[in-house]
Amino acid sequence: MTQKIYYDSAYTREWHTQITGRVDKDDGLYVTLAETAFYPHGGGQPCDLGQIGGIEVLDVISEDGEVLHKLERAPEQNDVDCHIDWQRRFDHMQQHSGQHLLSAITLKMADAMTLSFHLGTDYISIDVAAAELGANQLAAIEMEVNQQIYRNAKISSSWVTAEEAARLPLVKQPSVTEDIRIVEIEGVEYNACGGTHVSATGEIGIIKLLKTEKVKGGTRIYFKCGYRALNEFNAAQSVLTGITAKLKTSREELADRIDKMEAEQKQLQAELNAVKSSNDAYYAQELLSAREGLVIAQIFEDKSLKDMQSLATKLTSEHEGLVLFASISEAKVVLAQNGQPPEWACGPFFKGNLGAYQGKGGGSDKMAQAGFASSEDAIAFYEFTKDQLGHH
Ligand SMILES: [Zn+2]
Repeated sequence: MTQKIYYDSAYTREWHTQITGRVDKDDGLYVTLAETAFYPHGGGQPCDLGQIGGIEVLDVISEDGEVLHKLERAPEQNDVDCHIDWQRRFDHMQQHSGQHLLSAITLKMADAMTLSFHLGTDYISIDVAAAELGANQLAAIEMEVNQQIYRNAKISSSWVTAEEAARLPLVKQPSVTEDIRIVEIEGVEYNACGGTHVSATGEIGIIKLLKTEKVKGGTRIYFKCGYRALNEFNAAQSVLTGITAKLKTSREELADRIDKMEAEQKQLQAELNAVKSSNDAYYAQELLSAREGLVIAQIFEDKSLKDMQSLATKLTSEHEGLVLFASISEAKVVLAQNGQPPEWACGPFFKGNLGAYQGKGGGSDKMAQAGFASSEDAIAFYEFTKDQLGHH
């Protein structure tokens, strides 16, 4: 059986050992080692990566108490130097130890038990049995965990029997009955855990709670510890610096500045709407004077659907007749009418004829609109409709 170095020394990152077995699995070659510091997936903590005899370790799994290391290719010798990716491992140690503290303090201060733990490259979170945690409560928990970090309490592990475990104030009694590993954070908690931890809480560095969300049966708390928290701070700082530079303002005045921009935007939109409306009135007169019979038909190079609808509404609300518009830039067609016989119900006419032009749309008797895959299709449908109106 492999001797598991990570249980007794979480800080071993290089060692020399022998390959004791090779296992061919469907997804690749795995080897076993006489001694390993490679932590396999387990307890919410991802596995270690690194090299065995200069060959990349792709995965580490635990099977029947044995640790299997998946290798990129077969090693030539059985005598190998091993090393683990320390940056990755130490990150896991910081996050995982921070999680112990966060879970212990959340239990103590909010009476909320931790139900699960996620530690990934994307995010870190715990799910706790609390329907809701208020902002003040979360701030108090975050402060207390940080105080426990600065207290630099010793974190140690030991092996106990089931009887000894039963006498300890464990958060949860372990499911295994022999070789129980107890992790103690001095003055905080005893926990049955097989993961890797820093040797004192100070090495966690800092904890920052990021956000919470409701999950089935409780609340998910997202957080970051140590270097990840520093990276988070740097990323947020970089975004903030970029925005304040762009808006030529300070962090303190940023919110005011955005409020002001929103108000300006509203004002501009109102002014634009007024201009568009008076332009529509002028344009409607022009179209009316140029129309033949009761039909107004016009192709626009660049007009939005909304603007075409608004102009069509203006025309049909004030005059009897039919209005047909097409926009080349948007590949859209609008048909509106007022006081026409039932066969010119706009929506049904579109529904009945759009299919031949790969158009999609519809509408009411008084107004219909359709979009097309290309401006050519839109114009073809416009011409077809105009032709039909001409026969009317
Ligand atoms: Zn642990």
